[in-house]
Amino acid sequence: AYNFSPGPAALPEPVLRQAQADMLEWGDARASIVEISHRGSEFLQVARQAEADLRTLLAIPDDYAVLFPAGGATTQQALIALNFADAGQRVDYVVSGHWGKTALKQVPSVDVNIAASGEADGFRSIPARESWRLSDEAAYVHVTANETIHGVEYRPAWGQVPPDTGDVPLFADFSSSIASEPIDVSRYGLIYAGAQKNLGPVGISVVIVRRELLERAGQPRADIFDYRSQLANESMLNTPPTWNWYLLGLTVRWMIEEGGTAEFDRRSALKSSLLYAAIDGSGGFYRNEVDPAVRSRMNIPFFLVDPTLDAAFLDGARAAGLIGLKGHRVLGGMRASIYNAMPVEGVRALVDYMREFQTRHG
Ligand code: PLP
Repeated sequence: AYNFSPGPAALPEPVLRQAQADMLEWGDARASIVEISHRGSEFLQVARQAEADLRTLLAIPDDYAVLFPAGGATTQQALIALNFADAGQRVDYVVSGHWGKTALKQVPSVDVNIAASGEADGFRSIPARESWRLSDEAAYVHVTANETIHGVEYRPAWGQVPPDTGDVPLFADFSSSIASEPIDVSRYGLIYAGAQKNLGPVGISVVIVRRELLERAGQPRADIFDYRSQLANESMLNTPPTWNWYLLGLTVRWMIEEGGTAEFDRRSALKSSLLYAAIDGSGGFYRNEVDPAVRSRMNIPFFLVDPTLDAAFLDGARAAGLIGLKGHRVLGGMRASIYNAMPVEGVRALVDYMREFQTRHG
């Protein structure tokens, strides 16, 4: 089946096949990949290769550190404030959807300025850069590169991407769009992502941070939450999620072998335009309400003209081998998540099914 789930997302088939073999026996270790010590040379090689490959895939400059913390993006949303907002210092947040709001909930004891929010129009657009009310001396400005539920993404038609925040470092949640196109990492102070969309399995995150920011970072209350300690210990202050890390490494390698971010940029443009064309060309049977300038290429919410058809749509989709299409409870309707592991044929199959369903029920 083609899996359109928003996450944990489908992994590429070659990765799953390799993982199946290594789960039983890893190389000549005489044990499964999940049984070998994280401090042994074999796993250290896996971990270091994953970092080297991620640096290649995303063209990460040397003056940026890469961390692989256990846990999800929500945890990083809490840790960035703990690490970078000194007591009393302001942080600026631009809220463009559900995950931007979630990020706010993780920083209750910090002086937060909501510099802009798209909530008034139901997060169907991203407030123009000129309307942002940034603080003078914020520790950072936080944005969500792609809103997984509302389906809005910073795209070139919106304006300058990434937005210019002057001397204040830009921190971005790239959980659902990392590696879908080439980006200039040096324009960001920090990038974080939960891995379970484009990078593979849930349970591990990636944090890419300008080293100089880490050096003047705040005071986390515990060593385990301290990005500097994590860096000094190669993200192994405690037992890391080795299986997840290994799967992430395999997924990153697969993306490099497929042609890297330039190739996924090409595929994302093709896949998303096929699906938006099917929605927009349906004469109103299907609709997507997001401002075309910021329509996401990764997560495409859409609604049927008659919501009483939703269950029949989902049942028929499943029978046609198209799963994971039910929309998030916040919005309802449908959502197709088309991450890097989704082949173009999967989107063609979905579009064919949508046309056929409309012919039967339109
Ligand atoms: N940020 C974005 C953009 C997301 O899509 C998600 C989850 O889907 C999160 C944050 C939260 O991630 P996690 O569940 O890994 O904490």
